[in-house]
Amino acid sequence: MADCIFCKIAGKEIPSQAVYEDEQVIAFKDLEPQAPVHVLVIPKKHVESVLALSGEDKELMGHILCEVVPKLAKDLEVDANGFRLVVNTGKDGNQTVKHLHFHLLGGRSMQWPPG
Ligand code: 5GP
Ligand code: ZN
Repeated sequence: MADCIFCKIAGKEIPSQAVYEDEQVIAFKDLEPQAPVHVLVIPKKHVESVLALSGEDKELMGHILCEVVPKLAKDLEVDANGFRLVVNTGKDGNQTVKHLHFHLLGGRSMQWPPG
């Protein structure tokens, strides 16, 4: 989608520090990391948020959650101590980039409740 930063990252128009990539998904380091490990996992196709997902995306979301995230957790060595997976959505969720992304945060102890 034109003018979408994450579409441009997926299309390599904007450089990123990728830590994982396949045909459907790319994961890259967040520009402003909030933890020692902070990567964003995104579908390459433009989806605005979880609210824009449909039944057609079940396989893609299953791939991200069942395969990519666990693999990344192991590769980034946060599987033993755990991590946080965050999907900010819409205005109250403070979603600033309107392309679905999963924040994978780890390497330190997280607080609850979130701010
Ligand atoms: P949101 O607030 O939408 O959940 O998160 C957007 C995230 O994208 C933020 O953590 C922000 O630092 C990150 N971000 C925004 N622009 C870029 C960029 O151009 N490159 C990278 N690597 N991260 C970005
Ligand atoms: Zn996009």
